[in-house]
Amino acid sequence: MIKNSVCISIKGLVQGVGFRPFIYRLAQKHQLKGIVTNRSDGVVVKVHGDENVIEKFQQDIIRYAPHAALIKNISSVLIDENSFSDFKILPSEKNDLLDTEISPDIAVCSDCLNDLKTQKHRINYPFINCTNCGPRFSIIKGIPYDRVKTTMDTFEMCTDCHFEYHNVDDRRFHAQPVACNFCGPKYQYQKHQIDESDFTQIIKQIASQLKNGDVLAIKGLGGYHLICDAQNQQSVKRIRKIKEREAKPFAVMFRNIHAVEQFCLLNANEQKELESWRRPIVILDEKKQLCHSVNQGIKSLGVILPYLPLHYLLFEYLEIPAIVFTSANRSEEPLIANDALANDQFYRLTDGLLSHNREIYNPLDDSVVKLNRNSLSVIRRSRGYVPTPVELNRRVDSILATGAEQKNTFCLGKEYNAILSQHIGDLKNYETYQFYIDTIEKFFDLFHFNPQFIVCDMHPAYLTTKFANEFVHLYLKDDRSRIIQVQHHHAHIASCLAEHQIEQNVIGVSFDGTGYGTDGKIWGGEFLICDTKSFQRFAHFDYIKMPGGDHAAKEPWRMALAYLEKYFGHQGNWTDLRCFKNVNQQSISLLRNMLQNNVNSPLTSSAGRLFDAVACILNLCTENSFDAEAPMRLESIIDKSVTESYPYQVLDKTIKFDCTLEAIISDIDKIPVTIISAKFHNTIINSIIDLSEMIRKETGINKVVLSGGVFQNGYLLGKSMEQLKSNKFNVYTNEQVPANDGGIAIGQLIVASNNI
Ligand code: ZN
Ligand code: ZN
Ligand code: FE
Repeated sequence: MIKNSVCISIKGLVQGVGFRPFIYRLAQKHQLKGIVTNRSDGVVVKVHGDENVIEKFQQDIIRYAPHAALIKNISSVLIDENSFSDFKILPSEKNDLLDTEISPDIAVCSDCLNDLKTQKHRINYPFINCTNCGPRFSIIKGIPYDRVKTTMDTFEMCTDCHFEYHNVDDRRFHAQPVACNFCGPKYQYQKHQIDESDFTQIIKQIASQLKNGDVLAIKGLGGYHLICDAQNQQSVKRIRKIKEREAKPFAVMFRNIHAVEQFCLLNANEQKELESWRRPIVILDEKKQLCHSVNQGIKSLGVILPYLPLHYLLFEYLEIPAIVFTSANRSEEPLIANDALANDQFYRLTDGLLSHNREIYNPLDDSVVKLNRNSLSVIRRSRGYVPTPVELNRRVDSILATGAEQKNTFCLGKEYNAILSQHIGDLKNYETYQFYIDTIEKFFDLFHFNPQFIVCDMHPAYLTTKFANEFVHLYLKDDRSRIIQVQHHHAHIASCLAEHQIEQNVIGVSFDGTGYGTDGKIWGGEFLICDTKSFQRFAHFDYIKMPGGDHAAKEPWRMALAYLEKYFGHQGNWTDLRCFKNVNQQSISLLRNMLQNNVNSPLTSSAGRLFDAVACILNLCTENSFDAEAPMRLESIIDKSVTESYPYQVLDKTIKFDCTLEAIISDIDKIPVTIISAKFHNTIINSIIDLSEMIRKETGINKVVLSGGVFQNGYLLGKSMEQLKSNKFNVYTNEQVPANDGGIAIGQLIVASNNI
């Protein structure tokens, strides 16, 4: 038998997921001698033994890898070393040239839930974790991932934990956040006299308060949440008041999958997503209402299952099926992870504040996903996903992409990887902008990032644009060639090209609410021909005035009026429409004056604004109390059995909806609004198919990319894809990053890499 020494390099998500102990045990099993160590670019294994055994060992690495690990690349070379006396885990090596992959936070595993009831030093211990589960990104301060570089560094292990940490046969071997009731972090419950040394007492108190309708703030993994009984209308309304959030649906945590099934429609893929170790919020169709105030009559629900030991313990003592589970922050502000701030904002307003003494270094929200015909769309990419990079087919090293102004995320380019930040939010809010700056600094530090180029939107007034300008001035010697500006809708399409590694020209259908166009107008219903370098605008939705600018995005009745005024002027009896009865008559004449005299009425080709107008005309929503409320209401009533549509026109590559709106108005009072909504959606889908055909005829391009926030509309996305495919197009949409502005940064990154 031939004896060999081999060095195996494993790249991907292999740190902080129990990989080294896994390798150790595997080596023991195969009786191989050698070493395993973390390097900044992955895990390195050196082994000496029989050729065949090593071969089998390598296969087993792939086959039995820990469930949160993601092996992207495994390679091996023969080496000369063969003086290993046993198998050892060596301390982490420093290798600043390359970057590592930091594990996202992982939901508590079933073994730990079992230990919670059986291990003497961890009975009901809410911070229980092991190498397969627990906090990761949220507590990490530096790489390589070791306890001293996490916010666990202030807790000294007791002898039991110390023993487990060093015992290779233990599941907590090298589990960096290992802790127990005697040595680890602890919860404190404020406002109530309870013996805090006994967490069971705290949890019983909280459960009884929730049952009685109290509202509580609790500190979790990435920040604080506000919680209450999801079936108690009064309590839910109280949370709305605290958050200053009028109507945007709240996420709900159900006790288990059976409880979810009582209130929501659920298929196997959705269940799989709900139960995955990432534990995102999954948007499901509602079956039975919990209470009106949770989702305000929108027939879908953001659902999440317990992911911390704390959540499991809570439901153990709480008999209700579900709690509202919403991040603790005021509307538009970033989530709160800081204890003093939480105290300040929530001590008085809630009936109890549960905090703990482990610092959250990287605050992050719960992620939100949705399944459209079984393919996954990420709507908010945060806990459980961040900071896993998206792998690209181009080198994007040293580029910082600043992202969009709303739903902001930013992105670092490292070699061939795009490292996307957690969801930051709307930068126009001062606190959110501070969070943006802080997080960029932390990412630079964490990923040893040395920026050489910065990319931003074309909008001259965006805060990201200002940030880019200041950044170049301060850090890049005022060299203007280091700034690259990328058009918003091009970035949407490029985000999808980036994740699918597409190089060729495509037909880019970029539909969203708003984005600055190269003509200075507000775009949003765009048909582009583009690749990841440049774009050409082939056609677009008709330009319509937005009376009052940004106000028009918040008040759909303004857009309805603008459309009707443009298309029908004084003809027709559209002013009699029921939707305008809710609006002050004076405001209506004022607005018509504004439109006629062109006062503060910028032009937009936005698809989002068209959906707003139609939702208003159908009297579903005259004012948005949260972003995209009108289109959500329009989508939520669609009669899916309807195949008919309305006419529309293409004139000089402008897509006009005058005949569409005329037909819609004549249908009101004649057929149910559920059918009108379906016919309208089908019209937009027809426009996508027709324009794609037109472009294919002219250019021969056969790939279609659908991106932009409007494609969060499941009906629109699903049916467009289906019909494009049946017309023999290759269709792509975002999967790993959001189609909304949360994905813009990665699009900016790839376009920038092509233009430097
Ligand atoms: Zn575990
Ligand atoms: Zn301990
Ligand atoms: Fe957008």
